[in-house]
Amino acid sequence: MNTVVGEPEKLIDTNTITISGVDFRYGECSATTIKSLYTDTEPDGAGDDNDTLYGFIDVGEQSIYVNNSVGIHIMCATVLHEILHGILVTKGFLDVYDDENLVTALSYGLLDVLKTNPDLLKSLAKILCPAT
Ligand SMILES: [Zn+2]
Repeated sequence: MNTVVGEPEKLIDTNTITISGVDFRYGECSATTIKSLYTDTEPDGAGDDNDTLYGFIDVGEQSIYVNNSVGIHIMCATVLHEILHGILVTKGFLDVYDDENLVTALSYGLLDVLKTNPDLLKSLAKILCPAT
């Protein structure tokens, strides 16, 4: 599933994010939909009903969902956040893969580095993705 029925077009234009050789379907959806999907997946992990759920990764289903009703900066950080969860779990760091403080610090830190160093990001893209 790449697009949730009834949801607007995605802001981050990809259907798949490959993490450590594993393809994860990528989708964006409303706060209500993402909370419903998350609750279906993690019935005991949804936390306080008033919490805003920005996104989640379902490793078993190989899916990443991001809330598209937040600002684009938060969406970008959330994509990186879910990718970092995926890297940690696929690389066997099972003792820290769900450490939200660690993953959040790394995702916002990486986003900040990429945002404040646009030449670095362009250079990396040119080297790593020469066809683009
Ligand atoms: Zn997380």
